[in-house]
Amino acid sequence: MSRKRILTGDRPTGPLHLGHYVGSVANRARLQDEFETFVIIADAQALTTNFDRPERLAEDVLNVAMDNLACGVDPQKSVLFVQSLVPAIAELTVFYANLVTVNQLFHNPTIKTEAAQHNFEESMPFGFLGYPVSQAADITFCRANLVPVGEDQLPHIEMTRKIVRKFNSLYAPVLVEPEARVSEVSRLPGLDGGAKMSKSLGNAIYLSDPPDVVKQKVARAVTDPARIHPTDKGHPEICTVFAWHRAFNRAESDDIGERCRAGTIGCVPCKARLVAVLNEFLEPIRARRAGYEQDPDLVRDILSTGTARARHEGDRTMALVRAAMKIDYFPPPAPAATAGN
Ligand code: ATP
Ligand code: MG
Repeated sequence: MSRKRILTGDRPTGPLHLGHYVGSVANRARLQDEFETFVIIADAQALTTNFDRPERLAEDVLNVAMDNLACGVDPQKSVLFVQSLVPAIAELTVFYANLVTVNQLFHNPTIKTEAAQHNFEESMPFGFLGYPVSQAADITFCRANLVPVGEDQLPHIEMTRKIVRKFNSLYAPVLVEPEARVSEVSRLPGLDGGAKMSKSLGNAIYLSDPPDVVKQKVARAVTDPARIHPTDKGHPEICTVFAWHRAFNRAESDDIGERCRAGTIGCVPCKARLVAVLNEFLEPIRARRAGYEQDPDLVRDILSTGTARARHEGDRTMALVRAAMKIDYFPPPAPAATAGN
């Protein structure tokens, strides 16, 4: 029996950050032995909020590919590919667009949050409103069973499931209804104390940040505003730095939380410990990334091989979809009967 499939990935809107690692990339690297894994670099989706600067995509496609490879996504096991070069994704998006209503899209909570971030409330590009539909195409073009994502993506996976159910009941049951897999830390907060570390919000620690940048960023991270003196009693549950201890320094985090609450550890040593832990965690990732940075042609080769594989998978799905919708106008002729049959 063939292995179940994963579809997961990122928008090439900048290098990947700690939130990506805990939210999705760590799961990808861990699950790639068990599942046939497709990792999408969603460049068409990046354009929904960056359509006025497409020239930045080429660099960020490479950035995101290198970050995935540096985190252990293995091109021998996983298919790393570029979204806009897989025609099936665009074709499915057109067909799925008839299976959702504009109101469903307007009510999607992640669309609402991101529209506010990009000042799209008054004048929203059609492509931005429709990106959950294109995401349904991303997930279904390779008939994925599982989608490892951060919490912000859950409304989109739910929409994909609805589209799949509607397609399968209207036409024929050829699409796979996927499930989301959220990791233990499904939403890592940003440096500014905001709800989500995000490439587009400038509040991220990148996997490729050098040690001194990590130190500077942690130094200016927002902590519990009620703590003026190191002996003030703290509230770790509202502190960004504590959330990062939880995510990257699990073993010590209970103790640090208790000492913060009791006022026996100040923010300065708490941050210093975090910097040490983060730099130790990031060191092997930086080293592997440096290897790929030396050889961008190797990264392009990996992407081009993965993209060819994804196109092939997309063609197979489109044959099923066209037959289900009865729009396979020119099916290949049935093989001629030969003597003796
Ligand atoms: P952008 O701001 O451009 O949308 P992003 O930082 O949100 O970038 P995406 O490429 O949109 O990154 O997200 C890729 C994957 O990483 C998604 O599954 C998303 O849920 C997950 N992810 C992103 N940020 C976080 C975070 N702070 N915590 C947990 N998961 C995250
Ligand atoms: Mg995002």
